[in-house]
Amino acid sequence: MAYSPKVGDSISDLDTPSMIVDLDLMESNISKLMGQLLPTGINIRPHLKTTKSAILARKLNDAGAKGGCVAKLSEAEVICDLGFTDLLITCEIIGPAKVARLVELFRKYKSIRIVVDSEIGASEIDKALAKSGIEEPILTLVDLDVGLHRTGVQPGEPALQLAKHVAGLKHLKLIGVQGYEGHLQHLHDREERKTSCLESMATLTQTAEAFRKEGHNIEVVTTGGTGTAEFCVTVPGVTEVQPGSFIFMDTDYRNAVGTFYSNSLSILATVISKQAHKCITIDTGLKSLTTDSGFAECKTLGYTYGVLGDEHGSLAWTDGPDLNVGDRIEMIPSHIDPTINLHDFYFAHRKGVIEEIWPVDTRGKVQ
Ligand code: PLP
Ligand code: MN
Repeated sequence: MAYSPKVGDSISDLDTPSMIVDLDLMESNISKLMGQLLPTGINIRPHLKTTKSAILARKLNDAGAKGGCVAKLSEAEVICDLGFTDLLITCEIIGPAKVARLVELFRKYKSIRIVVDSEIGASEIDKALAKSGIEEPILTLVDLDVGLHRTGVQPGEPALQLAKHVAGLKHLKLIGVQGYEGHLQHLHDREERKTSCLESMATLTQTAEAFRKEGHNIEVVTTGGTGTAEFCVTVPGVTEVQPGSFIFMDTDYRNAVGTFYSNSLSILATVISKQAHKCITIDTGLKSLTTDSGFAECKTLGYTYGVLGDEHGSLAWTDGPDLNVGDRIEMIPSHIDPTINLHDFYFAHRKGVIEEIWPVDTRGKVQ
């Protein structure tokens, strides 16, 4: 019989490696975030770069979020076609191929929002929309550098100049400012994270005010991630936060910001070889767990994971139960977003029984 896991199966029936989600823990993470942030009246627009899933986007909206973010245009194409169209694309859309794709996406879905950080980038989109015959302008935010130094126009005169330029383009409608303080998300010291975040928020909200003084109608001021959203929402003028990782977490985030949210996702693995005591090999390597933020963690205490190549990993034994060939263990990813990008499906279970199976809709959508 062909391998086809289904709802009602036990996770012990799954082949490995498999990506599994503990629904009780995931739902508790969602409730904690909503409980903490919704009472402030702020809009929560979760970043779907983490889940890559239209089903999870809807679950988050059912819990109180409004809309979602995607990083890339190709993610927006997929998620919109799955019926979830209230999306902000948080990366700049640059180059003729991408701009042409944007025009076609916008033709179908007028609710998508984009960011720009250069006059040339904004003008190319304006020109393409002018040629398209589409009447409506595309909702546009100026992307501001609030300290990450990744994308974003510089605050002050350059930002004012860009806002003026965008406002002068017929096919772009300036509605807001995005300023993402990604460099602060993993600061270990909570006070330092808070202080630095408030500095970034001052830059962001002062820029929004300066735009308004120039006559621009700024309705959206969007920012924040899992590590900073709780501080962003306390700042008058911030209208929206974009946390993503909180839903599943990872060891990198947990080590930095603590255990308010739980690690709800893990990669199920099998011990496939044991040639000597304490010399254990499992079936997860670089193709199932990323290592950019350190090695994944074995949930079975007393074992330390190491990479043995694309398909294999080692578990060094220091303490704890003896593991044997065929035993199964759970690995907690060190960095959730790129790890999910390595898998086709989530197997969501409650106490070991699979309740839902979700495709990773935007897996590989990096354009
Ligand atoms: N907003 C933007 C623009 C991002 O790039 C990211 C993540 O990299 C987020 C929000 C979400 O951050 P996190 O996953 O840390 O919650
Ligand atoms: Mn990430």
